[in-house]
Amino acid sequence: RAIVDDPDPSFYRMVEYFYHNAVKVCEPSLEEYLKKYTHLSDKKRKQRVSGILKVMGSCNSSLQFEFPLQRKNGEYEMIHGYRSQHSVHRLPCKGGIRFSDQVNLEEVKALAALMTYKCACSNIPFGGSKGGVAINPKQYTIAELQRITRRYTLELAKKNYIGAGIDVPAPDVNTSGREMSWIVDTYIKTLGYKDINAAACVTGKPINGGGIHGRVEATGRGVFMTISNFIHNEHWMKQIGLKPGFEGKTAIIQGYGNVGSFAAIYLQQHGVKVIGVLEADCNLHKPEGLNTVELLQYKQKNKGSAKGYPNAKDVGPDLLYENCDILVVAAMEKTLSQQVAAKLNCKIIGEGANGPTTPAADVILRDKKVLVIPDLLANAGGVTVSYFEFLKNINHVSFGKLSIKFWRDSNTALLDSVEKSLKAANIDAKMGPTPLFKSLMSGANEEHIVNSGLEYSMTNACKNVMHAAKSHSLGLNLRTAAYVTAIEKIFVTYDEHGLAF
Ligand code: GLU
Repeated sequence: RAIVDDPDPSFYRMVEYFYHNAVKVCEPSLEEYLKKYTHLSDKKRKQRVSGILKVMGSCNSSLQFEFPLQRKNGEYEMIHGYRSQHSVHRLPCKGGIRFSDQVNLEEVKALAALMTYKCACSNIPFGGSKGGVAINPKQYTIAELQRITRRYTLELAKKNYIGAGIDVPAPDVNTSGREMSWIVDTYIKTLGYKDINAAACVTGKPINGGGIHGRVEATGRGVFMTISNFIHNEHWMKQIGLKPGFEGKTAIIQGYGNVGSFAAIYLQQHGVKVIGVLEADCNLHKPEGLNTVELLQYKQKNKGSAKGYPNAKDVGPDLLYENCDILVVAAMEKTLSQQVAAKLNCKIIGEGANGPTTPAADVILRDKKVLVIPDLLANAGGVTVSYFEFLKNINHVSFGKLSIKFWRDSNTALLDSVEKSLKAANIDAKMGPTPLFKSLMSGANEEHIVNSGLEYSMTNACKNVMHAAKSHSLGLNLRTAAYVTAIEKIFVTYDEHGLAF
């Protein structure tokens, strides 16, 4: 059955399908690239392009294991763990760990592939990986979760699936700084004890344990920033018949977890009315606009559930189909199927989740002239700030006042030359030295540095994707455009490294 007709396609096949769609678009330009930089015969050049694309599209290696857990009541249970390393063209590879009873090998492989393309799309110099434990964490005590996390880490360490130069996990669905702390502690005290960069074996850690300010909010903030880049762009707004700017706009959020809640908060801060929030156990509607911060606080106090929030009406799941300008999908994969897509009444979709839109839904949304900002681009904020945290850890610095002074003093000459060469090359004068450098110069605090670095990186990625969409005449197909930018970059790396030993 063709994947575009499949109402419930396999997640891994979905990613493969999106990848191959983009390959069709950029294969000629990859050939051109080789023509320019190598002296291969036509036949050899074609072989090389197709060889690299084969390697790039496949999953390098996966780990699947089971280990026992003795439950609080004395019973034993086997726990299933996974980690996939999709691409190792750059090391370490990077990607979160999720705890969910939906986790299986094929899901983890699909998510690892998305990490490869996501990192490349945003110029984050990592390969792609992902891990998961097939449990519903709500059914385990905190002590049990700690034992599961530690044993899972040990299995990864034993098999060389974790380490600052190898593979670096991070939070994902149902994991947070707490689990990352257990991971780093397990690694440091066991197989990573000789590794001077052991603290960089995982990101998303609490600040005290080597984390970085702004990481918790980063994915939601990145979703907001990508929407902001598109909504302020006349060209793109003209395509979908929307007035540029946030003013007077409405939004609906599917999934009020770490990603959806912060995306909603930043949207509201910029004048957007958040009229609906859909969760697994409730659907909150308020046409005058919800108080997004209050809702998050309510959820945190109410054992992680928004149910019973007093300042909105709990309505049916058809809330998703209400009229709105922006829909943020930040729940799980495949929530936007063909049937759902046909009923949506929004203009812009920001994919906070990984893989929320099926290929069939993607086609329908394009026909309906909905601007879909794809996962690769929209949710790259998390891994971007993970990269900043990683840099902080391997440099053994804290981004406090002292190190900022050091940076400022030692980089003054560099900053001057960056500015001069930008001017000489006539590059967008407004860009100047990057905001990241600027904030280093002004002695700003860590959060400021992180947020301006994130903004710079997300804006750049958006520009690249917009450019690819225009130059390949892709219309509203930003997903293919995002894959194209990723494939072009990964291609160069594989070409330079060579493919085989
Ligand atoms: N789990 C997040 C994602 O899907 C973050 C990954 C990371 O920071 O490594 O992008």
